Amino acid sequence: MVTPPLCPVWCARTLEGLAVGVGFGAIGKTASATFENARNLAVGIGIQNFPEGLAVSLPLRGAGVSTWKAFWYGQLSGMVEPIAGVLGAVAITLAEPLLPYALAFAAGAMVYVVVDDIIPEAQTG
Ligand SMILES: [Zn+2]
Repeated sequence: MVTPPLCPVWCARTLEGLAVGVGFGAIGKTASATFENARNLAVGIGIQNFPEGLAVSLPLRGAGVSTWKAFWYGQLSGMVEPIAGVLGAVAITLAEPLLPYALAFAAGAMVYVVVDDIIPEAQTG
């Protein structure tokens, strides 16, 4: 059985979901926390989820997994994102003073995931 690389993808998508949730949950709390900025963040993250889903599906397809199964593993890899989004929105509503730290943590964690997983993966094969 081929196992897809879901852990790094789930970690990244959890953080993306948190970022979007925090973006929407923070609307109106600062001058730059607008609906338009939160929407743009969600759209940007949504766009870059296409290659992320492909990064899960294509290696599975290449390893001989059926097309539909590979497709659904790609879809499954994104299921944590809306859940994390709701958690991020709720958390920021309850813990507004933590907003700058939560955003800094999300940004730092994304940089960590890129440096620890994506860059080494991009340099193999
Ligand atoms: Zn993504």
